[in-house]
Amino acid sequence: MTAACIFMGGCSGGNGYFDEPVSKSDFLMDTYMTVTVYNGSSSAPEKALSRAGELEKKWSVTDSSSEIYAADHSGGKPVTLSEDTADLVSFALSMNEKTDGALDISLYPVLREWGFTTGEYRVPEDSRITELLESVGCEKLSLDGRDITVPDGMSIDLGSVGKGRAGDEMIKTLKENGVTSAMLDLGGNIQLLGSKPDGSDFRIAVRHPSGEGNLAKVEVSDCAVITSGGYERFFEQDGNIYWHILDPKTGCPAHSGVVSATVIGKSGTLCDALSTSLFVMGTERAADLWRASDDFDYILVTDDGRAVITEGIENSFTLYDEFSSMTVEVVRREK
Ligand code: ADP
Ligand code: MG
Repeated sequence: MTAACIFMGGCSGGNGYFDEPVSKSDFLMDTYMTVTVYNGSSSAPEKALSRAGELEKKWSVTDSSSEIYAADHSGGKPVTLSEDTADLVSFALSMNEKTDGALDISLYPVLREWGFTTGEYRVPEDSRITELLESVGCEKLSLDGRDITVPDGMSIDLGSVGKGRAGDEMIKTLKENGVTSAMLDLGGNIQLLGSKPDGSDFRIAVRHPSGEGNLAKVEVSDCAVITSGGYERFFEQDGNIYWHILDPKTGCPAHSGVVSATVIGKSGTLCDALSTSLFVMGTERAADLWRASDDFDYILVTDDGRAVITEGIENSFTLYDEFSSMTVEVVRREK
């Protein structure tokens, strides 16, 4: 055991867990990422962050050496992607179908017009949005194996799914480095590997949609807990609030009645895609999609102050005391 401990670095007591968790942070994909491991190799967090850095280089929309930049500036010619990128694009295209267009990686030109990509916010003219929407639509993209064709005038961006996939890849790296208990905090996206060292569940806070304070906690292990909220990025103009998640059908901030969508499931990629999608889809369409699936649960907060949760998370979900009078509706398999 002693030899193993020296090899693992920093572990204690013969149970393989560190005395103190080992944490490392970096600013990647436009967010602070923190990796905390409770066992395994103490260099694992650094390796996981370096994997995220590798993916950021491939997926950045602004870095002229990225694969996405190459696809977006190809003048309509096919570009060969790496497997990492082609896989994620292919997944995003399948989610576009599954969500009936709520998730759309080709929305980028519209997002840019609103200033959400640069922070130079403005409300575009209706006519400008209509014009830009003509060059939006996943059906106009083609992915043939690893070759993508983005028609001239169109752009794609993996911002709605990239952090989730990065989390899944980081967890793979941690596992390869002997880690069985870890937490990733990727700017509010939480991804958990295993349970806490004592075998109990992690306790993850779900923020109040106002962005101030926590609404509820979920006690879970070995899964992703990913939230999309209007509070994350928005601007105010003439008394109106405009947030960064747009409805691809209108090209405007989504007003589905959902103000925050948290998705819980094994795949970070899926949860990330769905947190954005359910925010756009609203409670009814969300319930339909959930009933047709078996790989996620959700917590939606509505603009009239309800929490709508699926039955799979019911026993792990607790409102904090300040919000204990909130109405919680549970969506069940059988209507
Ligand atoms: P965040 O990355 O802020 O945690 P999300 O995962 O919900 O949140 O991703 C939102 C990002 O995705 C936005 O910042 C924007 O770049 C892009 N986006 C906004 N609306 C959509 C949409 N309907 N489909 C795909 N991408 C979108
Ligand atoms: Mg998302």
